[in-house]
Amino acid sequence: MVTLDDIRAAKDRIQGLVRETPFKPSASLSRQAGVPVWLKCEHQQITGSFKLRGASNAVARLGKVAGVTTASTGNHGRALAHAAREQGIPAVICVSRLVPQNKLDAIADLGAEARVIGASQDEAFQEARRLQREEGFALIPPFDHADVIAGQGTLGLEILTQIPDAAVLAIPLSGGGLLAGVAAAVRALRPDIGIIGISMERGAAMAASLDAGQPVEVEEQETLADSLGGGIGLKNHLTFPMVRDLVDEVILLTEAEIAAGIRQLSVADGEMVEGAAAVGAGAVIAEKLTAKGPLVLILSGANIDPSRHAAIVRGET
Ligand SMILES: *Cc1c(COP(=O)(O)O)cnc(C)c1O
Repeated sequence: MVTLDDIRAAKDRIQGLVRETPFKPSASLSRQAGVPVWLKCEHQQITGSFKLRGASNAVARLGKVAGVTTASTGNHGRALAHAAREQGIPAVICVSRLVPQNKLDAIADLGAEARVIGASQDEAFQEARRLQREEGFALIPPFDHADVIAGQGTLGLEILTQIPDAAVLAIPLSGGGLLAGVAAAVRALRPDIGIIGISMERGAAMAASLDAGQPVEVEEQETLADSLGGGIGLKNHLTFPMVRDLVDEVILLTEAEIAAGIRQLSVADGEMVEGAAAVGAGAVIAEKLTAKGPLVLILSGANIDPSRHAAIVRGET
């Protein structure tokens, strides 16, 4: 398991490679929740998501390699491409056909090769495995890796410094690297803090796995929260047990509830976020998420097609 010491070491290692992101209160969400609601604006991280924390930590710990590779629904690939370029090594990002074009373009803009392969995250992952086996690449997975989890955990340290009286953290949940890292950090320092994971109803692999008591596969479906898609891996060895032990509750949202979160964060708070990052707001608006003290919503990413975002804000989807 990943410890507070691992996360503190990661914080020192990635200092200067990642941004300390701002936080701000949300008046409308505070009114709806009946407690102070804080937005942790991690969508303003370099590359547009928190994934740069884990990728930077993992790359900083590599020895000599031919390059780095991963399979990713987008933000991890983008973060890894950026982190690799910072260290002058090639990156090949293997993605499935479900990944939206704006995310592929962003990977290419970062100087990496985006290799589109297969109809699912798992098929794209096979190509990354081949590069690792046959071509001397280091495979950096998006969540089930100790250095990645420790890097994401630095966000938890930052939240406790900025909002020391936080009572509950609402954390977007997919493979669980973000939740595992953040929860490991904050629970070590504040054992009483509430940890809520939030996913979409359409294809929530971690929620289904927690229900089953072991990692299971779910059908991948299109969702507004596309960064929360994909499986957790049947051989998951770190994030499944960590999330199982650290999470208090997992909340699932409909597509309409996610859209409402995107819309209100834009209209009332002036923040343009992707679906995955809007689930905390969506859960408050839907009255699925309550807290007895200050509630922190992690806005985890900004990578949404701007015209899609505009259509959602206009109420067209
Ligand atoms: C990856 C991602 C998540 C989920 O993180 P996991 O570590 O897979 O649980 C949430 N939001 C955004 C924007 C992401 O890119």
